[in-house]
Amino acid sequence: MKKPNVVILGAGYGGLMTTVRLQKMVGVNEANITLVNKNDYHYESTWLHEASAGTLHHDRVRYPIADVIDRSKVNFVKDTVVKVVPEENRVILENGELTYDYLVVALGFESETFGIKGLKEYAFSIANVNAARQIREHIEYQFATYNTEEEKRDERLTIVVGGAGFTGIEFLGELVNRVPELCREYDVDPHKVRIICVEAAPTALPGFDPELVEYAVNLLERKGVEFKIGTAIKECTPEGIIVAKGDEVEEIKAGTVVWAAGVRGSHVIDESGFEAMRGRVKVDPFLRAPGYENVFIVGDCSLIINEETNRPYPPTAQIAMQQGEVCAKNLAVLIRQQGELQPFKPDIKGTVCSLGHDDAIGVVFGKKVWGSKASFMKKMVDNRALYLIGGPSLVMKKGKFNFL
Ligand code: FAD
Repeated sequence: MKKPNVVILGAGYGGLMTTVRLQKMVGVNEANITLVNKNDYHYESTWLHEASAGTLHHDRVRYPIADVIDRSKVNFVKDTVVKVVPEENRVILENGELTYDYLVVALGFESETFGIKGLKEYAFSIANVNAARQIREHIEYQFATYNTEEEKRDERLTIVVGGAGFTGIEFLGELVNRVPELCREYDVDPHKVRIICVEAAPTALPGFDPELVEYAVNLLERKGVEFKIGTAIKECTPEGIIVAKGDEVEEIKAGTVVWAAGVRGSHVIDESGFEAMRGRVKVDPFLRAPGYENVFIVGDCSLIINEETNRPYPPTAQIAMQQGEVCAKNLAVLIRQQGELQPFKPDIKGTVCSLGHDDAIGVVFGKKVWGSKASFMKKMVDNRALYLIGGPSLVMKKGKFNFL
């Protein structure tokens, strides 16, 4: 019998989890497994705010894909996916083409700017390792340049963060620790630095427990963050941003604008003609794209409805990894033509939002946590993700053990 070709696109949480689980389940002679990713490394997207602020080196947030795949079973292709042609079971890459019997699309998230003028051109977004490195370098450049100019431009030292959601708050938590270091390093008066967070919703961290939100906002304000809640970014310009609260319009001059208020699924989803909302496909209970029984979609490119609230689950690494496990099981069923497909049901264990390396807030197994206890849990969550993909050796290499 011909060995089926299984092609997995993307080596983020969803794609890599699918790959490492599948390589354990099937033998060399049962399937040809190909994993495609644009880099030869995997990065922990959930740590990118640290690399962006410069509190964690970017090499700490990534590891070689070769370290976790079994090369006797998985063929790794370093390339960029251009589009999928699902009617012909083909994937078009920048440098070639692949055909498949079963496909997993796990190409993750991209920044969503909702058409706000100038954001794409002038704002940064915490999207991947390259973007994180650029944000860190850009902020450092502003501090390094400040004292070299005869006429000091204080706005160089203003950093605007668009969005007080999960990513925005985690990034602010790192920034407030990084800025004092930068001030010392470049002889900058800390009073000249402004960190402003602009959020259109009526609260920071919409949907989070209000007591925990208050804890986070108070802590960040104490460390110098100015919140502009209920305020929308109308435009981003080379000089900063224009915001509006009701009828009041204000220009904020800033050397750095980081947009952290929206993500969408990969543009490849739209290019490939899948029915989607902002690059996210509403998958069937077995994680398949409607109309294509051999195409699975996991992670941020998929959309799953929470039946209790009748709203989509927010895209998270937690869900992407759980989907990867189920997807691998379902692929094994199809490869062997034995057994039954398993429906996917998210098992949400909790959410922890970091506020720098030593503080956090969260709800874990239904209990509220904050402070150093929450921070400890956050590191445990981060280490667990490493463990699930690469076992204890990956945790030893890349894990977070600075618990104090
Ligand atoms: P990703 O992890 O984004 O991986 C996609 C992979 O595909 C990447 O390797 C990428 O290089 C590759 N790729 C993309 N396009 C192409 C292409 N065209 N060709 C080839 N390869 C391509 N979630 C949580 O659960 N908890 C958290 O605490 C948390 N914190 C976060 C903090 C930050 C700063 C951010 C940005 C996100 C956070 N998230 C968190 C969300 C989480 O990171 C995402 O939900 C998760 O990464 C989605 O996993 P994925 O497998 O779908 O995609």
